[in-house]
Amino acid sequence: MGFSTALQGRAAHEALILRQDAELRLMETMKRCFQMKAKCDREYAAGLATVAQQGLKIDRADDMQGSLITKSWRSYMDELDQQAKQFRINAELLEVICEKLAHLSQDKRKARKSYQEEHAKIAVRLNHLTDEVLRKKSEYQKHLEGYKALRTRFEEHYIKCGRGGRKLDDVRDKYQKACRKLHLTHNEYVLSITEAVEVEKDFRTVLLPGLLEHQQSVQESFILLWKNILQEASQHGDLTSDKFNEIQKRIDNVINKINPNEEYREFTEKHKQVPKLQKQESLSKYQSFLRTSPNSPIVFQFDETLIEDIPGKLQSNTLTVDNLTVDWLRSRLNDLEGSVKECQEKQIKMIGDLNGGSPIANGVNGISNKDSQNRNSKDLNSLRCQEKQKQKLLDMIKSALSEVGCEELPSGCDDHLNVDQTFIENSFNNDNQMSLSSNRPLYEEEWFHGVLPREEVVRLLNNDGDFLVRETIRNEESQIVLSVCWNGHKHFIVQTTVDGHFRFEGPPFPSIQELIMHQYQSELPVTVKSGAILRRPICRERWELSNDDVVLLEKIGRGNFGDVYKAKLKSTKQDVAVKTCRMTLPDEQKRKFLQEGRILKQYDHPNIVKLIGICVQKQPIMIVMELVPGGSLLNFLRKNSNSLTTRQLMGMCRDAAAGMRYLESKNCIHRDLAARNCLIDLENSVKISDFGMSREEEEYIVSDGMKQIPVKWTAPEALNFGKYTCLCDVWSYGILMWEIFSKGDTPYSGMSNSRARERIDTGFRMPAPENTPPEMYRLMLKCWAAEAESRPHFDEIFNVVDALIIRYDNNSN
Ligand code: ADP
Repeated sequence: MGFSTALQGRAAHEALILRQDAELRLMETMKRCFQMKAKCDREYAAGLATVAQQGLKIDRADDMQGSLITKSWRSYMDELDQQAKQFRINAELLEVICEKLAHLSQDKRKARKSYQEEHAKIAVRLNHLTDEVLRKKSEYQKHLEGYKALRTRFEEHYIKCGRGGRKLDDVRDKYQKACRKLHLTHNEYVLSITEAVEVEKDFRTVLLPGLLEHQQSVQESFILLWKNILQEASQHGDLTSDKFNEIQKRIDNVINKINPNEEYREFTEKHKQVPKLQKQESLSKYQSFLRTSPNSPIVFQFDETLIEDIPGKLQSNTLTVDNLTVDWLRSRLNDLEGSVKECQEKQIKMIGDLNGGSPIANGVNGISNKDSQNRNSKDLNSLRCQEKQKQKLLDMIKSALSEVGCEELPSGCDDHLNVDQTFIENSFNNDNQMSLSSNRPLYEEEWFHGVLPREEVVRLLNNDGDFLVRETIRNEESQIVLSVCWNGHKHFIVQTTVDGHFRFEGPPFPSIQELIMHQYQSELPVTVKSGAILRRPICRERWELSNDDVVLLEKIGRGNFGDVYKAKLKSTKQDVAVKTCRMTLPDEQKRKFLQEGRILKQYDHPNIVKLIGICVQKQPIMIVMELVPGGSLLNFLRKNSNSLTTRQLMGMCRDAAAGMRYLESKNCIHRDLAARNCLIDLENSVKISDFGMSREEEEYIVSDGMKQIPVKWTAPEALNFGKYTCLCDVWSYGILMWEIFSKGDTPYSGMSNSRARERIDTGFRMPAPENTPPEMYRLMLKCWAAEAESRPHFDEIFNVVDALIIRYDNNSN
């Protein structure tokens, strides 16, 4: 229903006018509001621009060079400034909208006026005609009355006077005039009515509907314009519009560019300090933690002037072990052992917490979780440091005490005269020794260490001026080397002159001993460049034997590096076993050969083969050990398979467990435990031997490939990941038990190494050899647990085997 049909009445007309008035007032309200909003936007823009400016003022910006968070923040502030600009533009656009609204309101006012005028115009004629009809009607009535009166008079005269007479004529004339007048008025009335009818019909059916229809379309077109203005206003204020979205996206992007891993890259590059250590050694995980420590270390040095006047027993950087200090050292040793153990326990607990800690305990969200992990690993590092520091002191005291061994302790008497006298005698003896020694062969000199490996040499030379002489083989040629501790370790090759004399930079001497004595006594530097002065000859340690101390008797076996002999020590006539190293092997192999000696040197246990010494004075280099008369356990088992009893086999398992328990307590991983590497003595006691692959570490990761791995004896985690711990030795011990009870059979017989490995990975375990006590087999299976952590430690193994033997003995009695 449109205006034209619905709004024809007077009341509707007036309502339409009122409606337009109300619309005009609403338009005014809108205009005012938009003006206020524009003002708000402008003020907000100004505020935002100030914020952005403040944000760009970064304190100590130079210190933040390369920081992604700073870069992102700058871009963020730039975008905030863009937002401010956008608000300013919006404010300006809103003002334009206000102007548009003002124009619209003006047009609307005009349209209202013209509607009123038009309406009045078409209504005025109808009104006029209505008045005309009324006027005509009243005229009609008036003439009708006059006519009626004159007709009555004429009739009366006619009746009275008959047909003639002047009077009658007069009356007739008046009557006829009145009649004529009436008829004329009648016609005029009829005409005016007819006109009025026509005009009224036109007004109602043509003019007014036309006006209203036009009015409707005018008002609707205003509404459309109005709507457009509102839409425009709304679009300008739309904070989700593309312009704001783009800004928002850019802000999001720059914030996303913040990368915690990259944040400090440039900073660390700029400020990094490369400790010299890194270049020299491959850094362990722990050492890499030290990368951030200051580049120039604080040097703590023993002040030599302190002992200038009290020479002899007190030496710089060396612990004094005598009857005055030994108890104190032992109690310190105890304390330190306690502290190291405590550190280790705390670390184990912490590692457990780190691995198993619930996410809630570690923190509820990502940041606090990571944070707490970092804190834990920091604490862990600190504990490791503490342990290492304490261990260092502990080792120092231990080695000082072990050097004294069970010999009578030197006197720590504070009788200075006595001490000084000893010193003088020693010096004299030393000098004497050196001056007298030129007549005997070089290898008999106490300070000649033969082909002692360089690592050992470095270990022996601790203080500036410490020196020794050794031999090295280069390109199959022997060279004599003087090694000196002087600002590090320096090695000088003794030069040979054409006439067979020996020299460094100074004069030549007929023998090496004389050359060394000259350097020692003259206190002149060996070379000008090095400045190294010889102050203290370092004599061979007790375990460095001379090759001539040993007489080889008969070959008793063959090892990886060379033959093994039964031999006799010249000094004590003791029977010994001597492992020799083939002369033709490269230096690297010789070093590996001596590794066994270095490890064994520290151990003393009835079930570990004992080291007597190494002979490195000349080729072939040799390792001298206690002779274990029964030889290899494997051969023994095979040879005596018929006579060996279960009790004896159990005893062998107990011996091996005792030896391994001792090694575990020393943090030594054997890595090659097998019957072929155990020895057996005449009392059927088993001794663990062959430490060629051993490592003194809690965990040893093989990185240089897995050559010559005894696959069938090796735990899966060591085969798969190269990760060795004492729990790998436990696996091998299980195989050793199997070898013992099978009396020397080959494990997984009929299977290649790779087949055995595959089967183990799928859960296969060897069945028990015939006559194995079920408890012993159960123990074997425990040793073969796939998860290393589920295997028993040697302590537990020993206790189990020991208890089984006691039960076995009780049952048999
Ligand atoms: P390698 O470590 O070079 O392989 P082994 O330790 O296996 O050498 O020794 C080879 C063989 O020499 C052994 O199987 C054993 O028969 C014999 N043997 C080694 N050490 C001794 C020893 N201390 N007492 C008796 N025989 C030994």
